[in-house]
Amino acid sequence: QTHPDYTAHYSREATRAPEALDAFWMPFSANRQFKSAPRLMASASGMFYRTVDGREVLDGTGGLWCCNAGHARPRIVQAVQQQIATLDFAPTFQMGHPLPFTLAERLSAIAPGHLNHVFFTNSGSESVDTALKIALAYHRARGEGQRTRLIGREKGYHGVGFGGISVGGLPNNRKFFGSLLPGVDHLRHTLDLQRNAFSRGLPEHGAELADDLERLVLLHDASTIAAVIVEPVAGSAGVVLPPKGYLKRLREICDKHGILLIFDEVITGFGRVGKAFAAQRFDVMPDMITTAKGLTNGCVPMGAVFVSDAIHDAFMHGPGNMIELFHGYTYSGHPLACAAALATLDTYAEEGLFEQAITLEERWADAIHGLRDLPNVIDIRNIGLIGAIELAPRPGAPGTRAYDVFTRCFHEENLLIRVTGDVIALSPPLILTEAHIDRIFRTLAHVIAETA
Ligand code: PMP
Repeated sequence: QTHPDYTAHYSREATRAPEALDAFWMPFSANRQFKSAPRLMASASGMFYRTVDGREVLDGTGGLWCCNAGHARPRIVQAVQQQIATLDFAPTFQMGHPLPFTLAERLSAIAPGHLNHVFFTNSGSESVDTALKIALAYHRARGEGQRTRLIGREKGYHGVGFGGISVGGLPNNRKFFGSLLPGVDHLRHTLDLQRNAFSRGLPEHGAELADDLERLVLLHDASTIAAVIVEPVAGSAGVVLPPKGYLKRLREICDKHGILLIFDEVITGFGRVGKAFAAQRFDVMPDMITTAKGLTNGCVPMGAVFVSDAIHDAFMHGPGNMIELFHGYTYSGHPLACAAALATLDTYAEEGLFEQAITLEERWADAIHGLRDLPNVIDIRNIGLIGAIELAPRPGAPGTRAYDVFTRCFHEENLLIRVTGDVIALSPPLILTEAHIDRIFRTLAHVIAETA
């Protein structure tokens, strides 16, 4: 695979003055901090980024948990190029084009059995808000319009829409933005370093934390609760795994009280934990699944909400030609996104990439748990090709220790990792090899040791 020649671009970008980095207000970033040592990518291929100053950087994070098949895969590139020249855009309100219909069929074939209907969005945040709205409208369509409460979980991340930050449980994403949605409550989170530190795969202890939903049912009455939304594996909070049996118990309690269960699989979807969805890996079936990221391998923005037959059918029996759901985006089912997604699904299937996350899981687990005796390491968590290393915070300066590891890895070791707080999070493209695994953890071992 060849790259365009970016040489001229590199030298121009590499000398970009700090003032030239002001106009773009960066998402979830401190512009000031970024400007002191810019990290700018110029191109990408397979497992690697190339920076504007010409370095090859190993991608330990699949972009932002999204490039599950690696970068610039020719089949996906060609599909998008062909599509833009053929049909660049067509509305999907009251008309359409064939691609989203084909894609939705392909997607429902890999989703859990009863999730046969797909609503397209442009991002994970939009998928979450869409799922919450469908839940509310579903109960209303069935004559249970009093079910308006939504339940999230502490430490949950569900994007940045008002719905998502309301059910989300990360204080910084909520506290600057007013009173949020009314009628939202939160389950306790499941991170327990006392009982579960250094678990391999799912932690043993904590299934009973699902019973916290019974507390909220007692408090609010089941007849007022529409839905519970959780990430099967929480990513942005620093990789929090569900204790064994926890999700099953949550499902049982939801069933008992007629509450919908939504899995937010924006990061776990599309092979990250060894199956198409974490629902299948953990054998717990939600009523809806929210996705984005790996759906198009990250290359064109797209999200999708998978909806059960039962929910979908409740909307489809209205009179005449009534619109079933007053909701949608100009770009729902966008041709470029559909083309990218179809080529991405082909790539996943042909290369067996979901299975690859299972094949490499033991090797990945051995390698990451090999870091447990390093200084300041207080927990290590893993499942599929997800990994997290939690460091003890520096007294008075939380987050700085992991951030130092991140910047050293990037600037000195040509390795891209991700940090949230003092947790180092890893989610490499599923095409990685054992040699890449060795390099990631050899590098981390020595950088963590030196950062101490
Ligand atoms: N839900 C989860 C679980 C996520 O991890 C993310 C993004 N990291 C989102 C929702 C939001 O997705 P987006 O940034 O595409 O809006």
